Amino acid sequence: MNRFQHLNFYASLSRLKSLKKSYPAKMILVAFLGTNVPLLALILSMTLSNMYSWDQAVQVIRITIFATLFGTASTVYALCQLLRPVVLTSVALQNYLHNQTLPELPTQFPDEVGTLMKNTTQALYQLDELLHRVTHYDSLTGLPNRQLFCDRFQKQLLKTSRPTVLLLSLDDFTAISNTLGHSASNILLGQVSQRLFVSLGQSCAILAHLSADEFAIALIDYSIEKIVDQSQTLLSTFKKSFTIEDQSIRITASIGISLNSGSQQDVEKLLQHAQIALYQAKEKGRCQYQFYSPDINAQLQERLTLENDLHQALANHEITIYYQPLIDLKTQKIVALEALVRWQHPTRGLLSPTKFIPIAEASGLILSIGEWILRTACAQNHAWQTAGLPPIRMSVNLSGRQFDHPNLVQTVSQILMETGLAPTYLELEVTESFLMEDVERSIDLLTQLKATGIMIALDDFGTGYSSLSYLKQFPVNMLKIDRSFIHDVASNPNSAAVTDAIIALAKSLNLGITAEGIEAQEQVDYLQLRGCHEGQGFYFSRPLPVDQITQLLIDNAA
Ligand code: C2E
Ligand code: CA
Ligand code: CA
Repeated sequence: MNRFQHLNFYASLSRLKSLKKSYPAKMILVAFLGTNVPLLALILSMTLSNMYSWDQAVQVIRITIFATLFGTASTVYALCQLLRPVVLTSVALQNYLHNQTLPELPTQFPDEVGTLMKNTTQALYQLDELLHRVTHYDSLTGLPNRQLFCDRFQKQLLKTSRPTVLLLSLDDFTAISNTLGHSASNILLGQVSQRLFVSLGQSCAILAHLSADEFAIALIDYSIEKIVDQSQTLLSTFKKSFTIEDQSIRITASIGISLNSGSQQDVEKLLQHAQIALYQAKEKGRCQYQFYSPDINAQLQERLTLENDLHQALANHEITIYYQPLIDLKTQKIVALEALVRWQHPTRGLLSPTKFIPIAEASGLILSIGEWILRTACAQNHAWQTAGLPPIRMSVNLSGRQFDHPNLVQTVSQILMETGLAPTYLELEVTESFLMEDVERSIDLLTQLKATGIMIALDDFGTGYSSLSYLKQFPVNMLKIDRSFIHDVASNPNSAAVTDAIIALAKSLNLGITAEGIEAQEQVDYLQLRGCHEGQGFYFSRPLPVDQITQLLIDNAA
């Protein structure tokens, strides 16, 4: 049976072309027919009977026609009025569907049409709120999402000249969420948002959850001191550990801050700048905040372009090594070479490692580049030996990232095996800064490296911690006095005192000693007098490409 059988009459009227689109027209037709039935009946009965004279009949019919027309018109008019609530409700629905305008219908009438208007109003308001929640709030944390954040903040921007955006992101969130699993990390994010919410308290800040581990906080009319204060307070909310599924978890966060600078009253711009500052904050380490500055932005743009290019640099054979001799200060002979990497960039020319090593470190590319340098330098040293040149050490700089890598010892042994270089002819240069990050592990790793038979030099010595107690524990063979001391060793008593102290220290620990950055004869004289073993610097030779250094080695052997 047709479920809509009771709509048959309505359906058949709807088939009439002229009535199809108008409900009132259908009502009017029915009312017209209904109210005109008495008139038709009267005309019919008068025509058929001969009870009335012609004059009487005309008179009665005229009055009846007049009365019927009047009755029909008023019925139709009244019906149209009664239909108005239905029409209004229909228009209200249309308006909501097309322009999201909420209806203003009366709600006080208790009959069916009154209920229809009331329920339609209620339903549309509820639907609207639901839609608003779905499109403007983050379902995980219940906080406003990016769109609502921008909308609200944009409104505030009109009223203030001092808007600030803080972008807070959890440190190492990817690693944390990989360890915790999906649902536990969601719980963690929920707890983080709670803490941030409580920490902001009554301040008129707008807090939003932008993406996985990123929260935005808009501050209105805050002084710099108050911004710093607020940032520190937010970071300190992470001091207490989080408890998830009976597990205690410690996390930290970093904050990027962008302030308005005159013309840039644009939420997206502020967010973009906060993102750049956040990037910088993360570079500084964990639990840091950082303000955005245009200089940083320019540097970052340059950096991003270089990082992009660096990805192809190895494959495109753009990475090369220059070699700089280390001279025995007694014999004046070359006893070692330091491998110093260069990047022959297709458009920027020869780039110094200070320009791209930090980028390679931050992006992790240093691992493949560093391994390539080590392999190439070892292979080159072996090639010189097989060509009959006197064997010398090859000194290769190690980056902190390489040192942190669990396979370092294996990689080094593997490369020595592959290239056929005897371990005593390889020296790795490490710096105190990364050794001090985890002293126990560093001692262990250096011991393992030394056990393979290679040499270890402590680079840039004098600039870092230079802690005697640690130095004793680190199994190194050589100290390289930083060039900042050698630079004015012959004229500045302070530099001379540091240099003297380092030489004495190295001797007492039975370590070899190299002075870096020798540029003048007087520096050589000074260092020779103090018994420094080796020297390196432009005075002897600049770092040179392989063909030129080969010639130098040949001359040196003569
Ligand atoms: P570093 O290890 O201290 O290397 C010595 C730097 O001092 C080299 O700069 C060298 O060209 C420069 N130098 C040598 N003699 C003199 C001198 O007489 N006067 C002056 N003013 N400078 C001198 P370079 O080649 O630009 O390397 C800079 C830094 O980049 C290196 O400092 C090292 O930390 C890093 N680096 C270079 N090659 C590599 C590498 O293969 N791997 C890693 N991880 N870092 C590298
Ligand atoms: Ca070095
Ligand atoms: Ca150095």
